[in-house]
Amino acid sequence: MHEISVLKQAVDIAEETATENNIQRIAYLTLEVGELSGYLPVFFEKYYPLVTENRPMFEGSELRMVMVPGEALCKECSAMYNVMRNEGRCPKCGSRSKKILGGTEFRIRDIGLG
Ligand SMILES: [Zn+2]
Repeated sequence: MHEISVLKQAVDIAEETATENNIQRIAYLTLEVGELSGYLPVFFEKYYPLVTENRPMFEGSELRMVMVPGEALCKECSAMYNVMRNEGRCPKCGSRSKKILGGTEFRIRDIGLG
């Protein structure tokens, strides 16, 4: 369960950013979670109340998540495809040889102001 530690880091960053900008209250925190990041959104939802506990800035705030699709480029036939939907295999030629183009990220997309 790495989710709790990366979520805590994201909340720390959001808190620092808000403090630097004289923001007293955060309405929502939007995270970008790649399909291939290995993180499960359900755990972020579960841990968010825990991680934001005793942080007045986050009181009543909402966690939002944007899933980023895991896209790959086939090294054999140059087809672009979704890794999750095709179980890591090119739907055109069946090759597993690929270059990952996106979907491994985990980052803060935006911080909503209260
Ligand atoms: Zn292919």
